[in-house]
Amino acid sequence: MLASETTRGVKGRRVREKIPAILHSLVALRVSHFTAQVLRRRFGLSIPTFLIARRSGSVVESPRLMKQPVQITPPIRLKNFDPAFCHALDKDATREKTMRLCQRIGELQELLNANAHQSVLILLQGMDTSGKDGAAKHVLEFVNPAGVEATSFKAPSPLERAHDYLWRVHQAVPRYGNIGVFNRSHYEDVLVVRVMKLEPESIWRARYDQINVFEKHLAENRIILLKFFLHISKAEQAERLKARLGDPRKDWKFETGDLVMRAKWSLFQRAYEAALNRCSTSWAPWHIVPADRKWYRDYVIARTVVDAMEGLKLKWPKPREALAKIKIV
Ligand code: AMP
Ligand code: MG
Repeated sequence: MLASETTRGVKGRRVREKIPAILHSLVALRVSHFTAQVLRRRFGLSIPTFLIARRSGSVVESPRLMKQPVQITPPIRLKNFDPAFCHALDKDATREKTMRLCQRIGELQELLNANAHQSVLILLQGMDTSGKDGAAKHVLEFVNPAGVEATSFKAPSPLERAHDYLWRVHQAVPRYGNIGVFNRSHYEDVLVVRVMKLEPESIWRARYDQINVFEKHLAENRIILLKFFLHISKAEQAERLKARLGDPRKDWKFETGDLVMRAKWSLFQRAYEAALNRCSTSWAPWHIVPADRKWYRDYVIARTVVDAMEGLKLKWPKPREALAKIKIV
């Protein structure tokens, strides 16, 4: 009697010890909001809230990159991302770190070039003044210019319009060994084209899948595609546009078209959300970069590029010839 009680006691303790692990497994198996709704409506099953995944902002946090996610896993809502986020970092110390990261990008590009087997493509999207130019300039500051291929995509020329929308994009993909930068990209074909109604919905809506297939093709052909959405607030844009108007080194950039786009801010945010949610894939994930602070924006991009390039584990290639026999006279 005593013995069996003891056995029951031990068994009970073992089960109790397992409870945290069981709960953890259940949490890991959380169902989506949608599935929970279907289960409730169809089968009358009510799923406890702790077993329902958060509706939005499902995130993959880069271990070194803090609480607000950088690399995202859909579905996300942009309103959940703070454009002024900076992880309470110190500005000057972060600038120092960014400089060292940018130097590292220079070294890594030399390795990329020596191997000439892969290329890295940094794709920058964002509203006017979000800092696409500035970010490219800073992040690639220490890279050999011969190893950089930069392309700014404007409204398509007549020649470009005479081809499919990916034609000009594919030609601008960097050769193996180089780092490419896209200031705007094929995403304009689901952003400005959607918001400004430049094509019927049936045309631009089909493009999300086409873009995923295109980017998969690039990834399978060893192009490391890093997509950054520079997330700026409407208030910060107003400040930057005003500063642009008052600065003779910048006022030439101002176009009244910028104000037309600004007036459609929320439509653009919705179009960006759709692009981020539809086209953040395992082979070409989107990164959301808080862009109200330029120093933090550059840090996040530089950090992400270094992590991606170090992940390639590049080594100096072996000499092509038997060097021992070579005599320099
Ligand atoms: P910026 O980046 O200030 O030089 O402006 C370039 C302009 O070109 C922006 O207004 C973009 O929206 C526009 N643009 C880029 N790609 C496309 C496209 N595929 N279709 C229409 N407009 C585009
Ligand atoms: Mg402009």
